[in-house]
Amino acid sequence: MSNLNINSLFSESYQQSRERFLTTMKDKGAEILSLLHPDEGPNMTPLYMDVASLKRAGNKQGIVLVSGTHGPEGFCGAACQNYMVERGGLAKLLETVNVFFIHGHNPFGFAWNRRFTENNVDLNRNYADFEESQSFLNVDYLEISDLIHPHDLTEECFDQIKLWISERGASAFHQVALSGQRVDPDGILYGGVHGEWSNTMIRSVLPGLLGNLDDVVVIDIHSGLGDYGVGEIFSVYQNHDPRQAVLAQWYDDLIARNDSSNDANASGASEQYVTDGDFCSALTEILPQTTVYAFALEYGTVEFDRVFQALVRENFAYHKYGLDDDRTLKAGQRLRDCFYINSPEWKELVITRFEDILVKTLRGLQKLSGD
Ligand SMILES: [Zn+2]
Repeated sequence: MSNLNINSLFSESYQQSRERFLTTMKDKGAEILSLLHPDEGPNMTPLYMDVASLKRAGNKQGIVLVSGTHGPEGFCGAACQNYMVERGGLAKLLETVNVFFIHGHNPFGFAWNRRFTENNVDLNRNYADFEESQSFLNVDYLEISDLIHPHDLTEECFDQIKLWISERGASAFHQVALSGQRVDPDGILYGGVHGEWSNTMIRSVLPGLLGNLDDVVVIDIHSGLGDYGVGEIFSVYQNHDPRQAVLAQWYDDLIARNDSSNDANASGASEQYVTDGDFCSALTEILPQTTVYAFALEYGTVEFDRVFQALVRENFAYHKYGLDDDRTLKAGQRLRDCFYINSPEWKELVITRFEDILVKTLRGLQKLSGD
């Protein structure tokens, strides 16, 4: 595929991405469910989570592609969705597999260039069981919360963070700062204390769409972690879970290894940590009758330091100046530039890896149905 063709899969704003998605899906005869979000986007445009379904009676397997769980990471995810429906051999696919697309899992963040939702909640830490005790607070986050969300954000804060990392190690920092927390609602990666709008919508819609299928692969597409243009699979399953062995067999070296015990790995690439309330884990319980194979597909963009600083600066501006202040919008742009690299090489790497993953997924599903 030429660069020009690849470029046309990507959009430059949430609105443009949504329009492109809907046009493509309608063109293929998809059933579309557009869920209106309670808030508005820039210039008072309405926001939606759009769910498109392409089904054939009798199919017992499904693939779900999700974009925008972390707002502007949706530029990368939506391009993969466009690729799959336009050039991924859809007609052949639909002979055996139903295909579903969720565009704008967190539409508020997508439209405003925020990783977080309308309530400053990290949606990928929000699919927790809130009835079940206060399982995961991460009170250790309070140790660094004043550096991450200070009264005044200066270079000194970042120097202090660097010092903290040099003393305690990168993986300790990742666990404290990035695993999620429920102690500072104005901080980063705040998991919330109840289900967000997006979470509620997913729980109300997915069982009806997918509940009658035997096997479903859910690919939640992210960006901003790992090496430039490389897509790695982050499985949420424990080693003893049979699904882990299945994914390892299907994707082999595309699965990120857990390097968190290795402090030398300060780049943040392939770093995994214990989290609570991630979307992929919750799907097992949301779809109890179906065997779900869910994972995050994470594409690398720029170095970890830059992503982290952009995240902190945007969060600071959002709380200090408000959502539509110029300073916040600029900080949002810079954050977006860390999640979405507007260059032909990066886009080509993203789509080429995605093509590979799609082929491996289909082969895997065929194997399952043959067993
Ligand atoms: Zn993400």
